[in-house]
Amino acid sequence: MTIKNVTVAGSGVLGAQIALQAAYHGFRVTVYDINDAALDKAKATFERIAAAYRQDLHAGDESIAAAFSRLDTTTDLAASVKDADLLIEAIPENPAIKTAFYQQLAAVAPAKTIFATNTSTLLPSMFAEATGRPEKFLALHFANEIWKHNTAEIMGHAGTDKAVFDTIVAFAKDIGMIALPLHKEQPAYILNSLLVPFLSAASALWANGVADPETIDKTWMAATGAPVGPFATLDIVGITTAYNINKMAADAAPDPLKLKIVALMKAMIDEGKLGVASGEGFYKYPDPAYKASDFLK
Ligand code: NAD
Repeated sequence: MTIKNVTVAGSGVLGAQIALQAAYHGFRVTVYDINDAALDKAKATFERIAAAYRQDLHAGDESIAAAFSRLDTTTDLAASVKDADLLIEAIPENPAIKTAFYQQLAAVAPAKTIFATNTSTLLPSMFAEATGRPEKFLALHFANEIWKHNTAEIMGHAGTDKAVFDTIVAFAKDIGMIALPLHKEQPAYILNSLLVPFLSAASALWANGVADPETIDKTWMAATGAPVGPFATLDIVGITTAYNINKMAADAAPDPLKLKIVALMKAMIDEGKLGVASGEGFYKYPDPAYKASDFLK
């Protein structure tokens, strides 16, 4: 199986990044979205991403122009996949929307097309049947700002063909990713299976009054050599996302400590302390205390 033509469905935050990344690495890419307004927005997003390629990757005008020349957009689903070797789905994280999309797609895509979902929190087995080609379906999960945070977690469901899986591992490498294969389905993949409990443990120490965030971060940084601690990481992830994850956990199993974490994060949000994005979270930006040379003294 060789991948040449790639279709990206959904041109939002992640879809636009995936499309440009694949085009930049030489693939022909067609972007599908539901209406022209979404695609117009995507064109502006492509320009912003290209500016980041110039800054972060020192990409030259020629390679950016070449990437754009390999990139097309359409609102016609059948036309978008007619030659596709691979379709990457990056549409809203909503099971009903994704299921309906795969049913429509199954009716118009050629038999050869592999389907990959970029879902963050759902499992490929939930949609395998709707794709009409379970053996050619798996998850290919990117991180936001994929040109810098170039992880690609590749996760099949029990019915994914091994050759299809290997093809997608090779494709991920071909577009500049570090390919991270998972041998079985795991909610939250590898990264969030590690990160969510880690951040929860740090939040529990804070909410329980055991130590303050700076002391907890110092402990982690000094003892492991990590450049950031859990609270600096929470600022990067964003307090709203952290709040939502904790709120879901507290709703599922309310215990006093979880409820306290939720209340503390809610208070931060109410004060506009949303993390790096708003200029303040656990630290103040652009020069957070943890980056100071004497932080670990
Ligand atoms: P987004 O809301 O920014 O973009 C979604 C896009 O899908 C929009 O352009 C919308 O018009 C389009 N869309 C809606 N319905 C559609 C349909 N039926 N067919 C085609 N397009 C449709 O969302 P996002 O943040 O890019 O997330 C997309 C997927 O990527 C989700 O599954 C999410 O879990 C995953 N993801 C997101 C991030 C992130 O940091 N944002 C990171 C990793 C994975």
